[in-house]
Amino acid sequence: MRTYAFNEDLSCVPSKDFDVVIIGAGIAGIYSALNLDAGLRCAIINKRGSNDSNSIFAQGGIASVISMEDSVEKHIEDTLVAGAGLCDIKAVEILVEEGPEDISHLMKLGVAFDTDESGKLSITREGAHSCNRILHCHGDATGFHVTKVLQNCLAKRKNLHPMEGFALADILTDCNHSVCGVILQDSDGKYLRINTANVILATGGIGRVYRNSTNAISLTGDGIAAAIRAGAQVANMEFVQFHPTALIHPGLSGRYFLISEALRGEGAILRNRKWEAFMKDVHPLADLAPRDIVSRAIISEMKKHNLPNVYLDITQKSREFLQKRFPTIYGECMKYDIDIAINWIPVIPVQHYFMGGIKTDTDGRTTVSGLYACGENASTGVHGANRLASNSLLECLVFGRRAARDINIRTAKQPDFCPISKRENELDISTVRFNIRDTMTKQCGIIRNGGDMQKALAVMQDYYDKLSGVVLTNVTETETLNMSTVAIAVINAAIARKKSIGAHFRSDDN
Ligand SMILES: Cc1cc2nc3c(=O)[nH]c(=O)nc-3n(C[C@H](O)[C@H](O)[C@H](O)COP(=O)(O)OP(=O)(O)OC[C@H]3O[C@@H](n4cnc5c(N)ncnc54)[C@H](O)[C@@H]3O)c2cc1C
Repeated sequence: MRTYAFNEDLSCVPSKDFDVVIIGAGIAGIYSALNLDAGLRCAIINKRGSNDSNSIFAQGGIASVISMEDSVEKHIEDTLVAGAGLCDIKAVEILVEEGPEDISHLMKLGVAFDTDESGKLSITREGAHSCNRILHCHGDATGFHVTKVLQNCLAKRKNLHPMEGFALADILTDCNHSVCGVILQDSDGKYLRINTANVILATGGIGRVYRNSTNAISLTGDGIAAAIRAGAQVANMEFVQFHPTALIHPGLSGRYFLISEALRGEGAILRNRKWEAFMKDVHPLADLAPRDIVSRAIISEMKKHNLPNVYLDITQKSREFLQKRFPTIYGECMKYDIDIAINWIPVIPVQHYFMGGIKTDTDGRTTVSGLYACGENASTGVHGANRLASNSLLECLVFGRRAARDINIRTAKQPDFCPISKRENELDISTVRFNIRDTMTKQCGIIRNGGDMQKALAVMQDYYDKLSGVVLTNVTETETLNMSTVAIAVINAAIARKKSIGAHFRSDDN
C-alpha cells in the first residue's frame, strides 16, 4: 500500500479536470507546456508565483554546439567526462544533437541571445567545456530573459492555464499504478484535487534541503518526494553539486547569490588572502576545473588558513567590460560596496544543482504510467555523477519538449486512495526544518563519511516517521515531510556509493 502526504477525506476535496497537469513553471515546465498539442487543456501549477524558480536566476547561459570550431562529438565528450563515466550515453547524444533545434525554437519564440559586433551569436566558455559554446542573454541574465519570453508565450495560449500559489501535495494513482490526478494545497492549507491522466513534474532542484544554497526558496524537492510516494523510481540521488563561488557577505541572508563560472571563463582567478592563485596547483584546468574539484579545493584552502572564505579576482578586466558582460553580478556586488573592477569578491561553495532525481527514459517517462518528469527534478541520465555547466537549461528544453510530445490523452480513472488520518503533527516545524538543513550540510554535504551519514539517516528517519500519516495543515508542513523524504533518499544513495566520484566525495573512501 502506497503512502500519501495528504491524509484527509478525499471525497470532501473540491476538484477540477484537465488533460495534462504540469507541476512547476520554470523553463522546463513552461517549455513543455508550449510543446503540448493546442487541443490539450493543461494546468501549469506554481508554488509561490512566477518569479520563484531557479530558471529565473540562471546567469551563465545555455550550452549548444554553434561554432564551426565546435562539434557534437566534443560537446558529448565534455559531458561524459564531467559525468565521470556515469552518464547515459543515449540521453547525452539526444541532448547534444537535438539541443540546437530547441535553441532555434527559442529564438523563434522571441529569445534574443547576445550577439557580437558583426551580429553573430556571442558564445562564451565555462568550466570543463573544451570550446566556446555558451549562449547568453543580456550578459548574465539568461534565465530571467528566457523565462519572461516563455511566460509571455504561455499567456497567449488559450489551452494553457497557469495556477499560481498551489503546491503539489501528492500524485494520485489508480489500482493499475497509473496516474489519475494530483492533490494541491493552497497557501491557506486548503486542498484541491485535479483529475488528470498526465502529469509532468518540473519542480526543480532540492537546494532548500541544505543550509546554504543558490536555489529559489521554494525548492524543497517536492516533486521528487511526491514521486517517491507514488512509487516512482529515483536515480543518482547521491549526486549533489556544490557551486564553488557564491557571494558571502554579512549583509546577505536567505538565497546565496551566485558568482557565475562565466567570470572564471573570462579570466577571473581564485585567490587566498596571500594573493596566491591556488587552483593552478590543484588541476590542469586551474580555475576552470570541474565544480566539485574547485569546491573541495576552496574548502581545503579555507581550512588550511582558517579563512571564512576565499576570493575571486577579476580586477584585470575593465569596469566597462564588466558592466556590459556581467551587469547582474556587477550590480549585486555593488549593493554590498564590492566594486568588482577593483575589489576581490569574497566567495564560498554552496549547494547549487541536483544531478539526481526521478528516473526517466529519454521521453521523460517515469516508472509510473502517466507520470513524466523533466528539468532539474528528473534524472534523465545526461549528467551522470556531475553536471557540465550550462547543460541543465538545455536539458530542460530538450527533455521538456520530448515529454510533451509523448503525452496522449488518457481516460482519467479513480484513485486508489483511502488513508484518512486524524493524527496531528506534534513537532516544532521550524526546528525540524533547521535541523534537516543543518544535518544535511554538516553530515551529507561537500565531504561525507559513512559514520556521519548513518547518524544523519537516523535523524531524518525519525522526522519522516513522525510526519508521515499526520494531517498536514499547511504547505510548510508538507514541504518538511518532503525535505525529510528527499534527505533520506540522498543519504541512502550516498551511503551505498562507497567510492568518491564526481560530486560525491567521501573522506572514508580508501
Ligand atoms: C543561481 C543559479 C544560476 C544558474 N545558472 C545556470 C546557467 O547559467 N545555465 C544552466 O544551464 N543552468 C543554470 N542553473 C541551473 C538551472 O537554472 C536549473 O537547473 C533550471 O533552471 C531548472 O529548471 P526547472 O524548470 O527544472 O526548475 P525551476 O526553474 O527551479 O522551476 C521549478 C518550478 O517548480 C515550482 N515548484 C516547486 N515545488 C512545487 C510544488 N510543490 N508545487 C508547485 N510548484 C512547485 C516552483 O515554484 C517553480 O515554478 C542555475 C541555477 C541557479 C540556482
